[in-house]
Amino acid sequence: MSSRRRVVIVGGGHGGFETARSLRENGFEGALTLVSEESFAPYERPPLSKAYLVGQVCATDLAFREKSFYRDNDIELLVGDKVVGLDRADRTVCLSEGGVRGYDDLVLAVGASPVLPDIPGSGLEGVEVLRTLADAQRLRARLAPGQRLVVVGGGFIGLELASCAPGLGVDVTVVEVADRLMAGKISVPTAQHFLDFHRGNGVVCRLGTGARAIEGAGGRVCAVHTTGGSRLPADLVVLAVGVRPRTELARAAGLAVDDGILVDTDLRTQDPAISAIGDCARFPSPHAGAPVRIESVQNAADQARHVAARITGAATAQAFSPVPWFWSQQGTMKLQIAGLTTGHDHVVTVPGGRHPSALCFREERLVGIETINAPRHHLSGRRLLASERRPTAAEAAAPDFDLDLIAAPRRG
Ligand code: FAD
Repeated sequence: MSSRRRVVIVGGGHGGFETARSLRENGFEGALTLVSEESFAPYERPPLSKAYLVGQVCATDLAFREKSFYRDNDIELLVGDKVVGLDRADRTVCLSEGGVRGYDDLVLAVGASPVLPDIPGSGLEGVEVLRTLADAQRLRARLAPGQRLVVVGGGFIGLELASCAPGLGVDVTVVEVADRLMAGKISVPTAQHFLDFHRGNGVVCRLGTGARAIEGAGGRVCAVHTTGGSRLPADLVVLAVGVRPRTELARAAGLAVDDGILVDTDLRTQDPAISAIGDCARFPSPHAGAPVRIESVQNAADQARHVAARITGAATAQAFSPVPWFWSQQGTMKLQIAGLTTGHDHVVTVPGGRHPSALCFREERLVGIETINAPRHHLSGRRLLASERRPTAAEAAAPDFDLDLIAAPRRG
């Protein structure tokens, strides 16, 4: 039997790829297998709702690395294969293509999948979701001039997609059940700037309106019926109402699951040989009041590096605690969020670039900063949140408050 240590990574998205890359970078010399059920080598997801849709990049541009990278780094990359079983006693995983791999460390980086709302007609031809390159390829082929697109859900991905449509000559309507865009994710003032932008960009935004049913003709979508009683003609409908963590494998293996695979501050499940990272993992974050699941590239990549450092012994034991950050590019508007603004109860806006930046407070503590096209403010926000020099709401509201100045590194 081989004495090489074996790591198996399930999922070839941002977290899975970064785990493999970091393991080798940290000098891991054991056997390394990366299993991805998608039929593409690991690729970047964010451009799928942005540059890829408008034709600025093509599928091959999205790959993290060329195929030779995996060969050169002795990474066994299994694409179009899926881990279908996990035996914790034997420390093996079974693959859909019939293979079996043993592991000493297993990393679950299985991501999330789109929620499919229970709406009549959601199975019709022309009703899509946007999570994978295969989804984006279908959408891109259909976003042609004169087409009518209805996006169900005014969250980040729905709005990124909607912001691409007018430039492609596509008529687009966003149907959002809440009374504002990105509700529950960003502050009211920031949401209002985005609403103004999207409307000015030719996107029809119907707030406070849900999709009640999707109508078809000859098996293809032809309209969306809203809870407000309207009928919106549609050639294409994209359901963008959020995602659900992929917990099925962990659950079947008896691991604790609750809106995500539960892990500790070191990102281990209750089985110390198994870690979970990225969109699928719920972890205790010092930046949130309770365990959280964060859907962002930064979170998946940072957690991957944390786990790789632990496995290789490159890091001393410490809790995973970087300040979370996130971005969403919607047309010409780049939203950046430092920290976790979810659940804030007070907002102070301060001059940013063309748009003010929003400082979000929870129980009088600064928890996050939202900026629009103001990268310097964003970086200042990240620095401030990483320090203990957080301003109070009263300090932030003072006329001479300068975010960049108070976040600047101090000498001595
Ligand atoms: P994923 O990247 O989803 O990877 C998980 C992979 O595991 C998938 O390929 C899945 O098929 C595979 N898998 C699942 N189960 C198995 C199994 N049993 N066997 C084998 N493989 C399996 N974040 C940002 O910060 N900024 C953005 O602008 C942004 N834009 C986005 C745009 C789009 C269209 C999407 C979909 C997401 C966007 N995100 C963005 C979110 C970001 O992409 C995710 O947070 C990130 O990809 C999470 O990485 P992950 O590795 O946890 O999961």
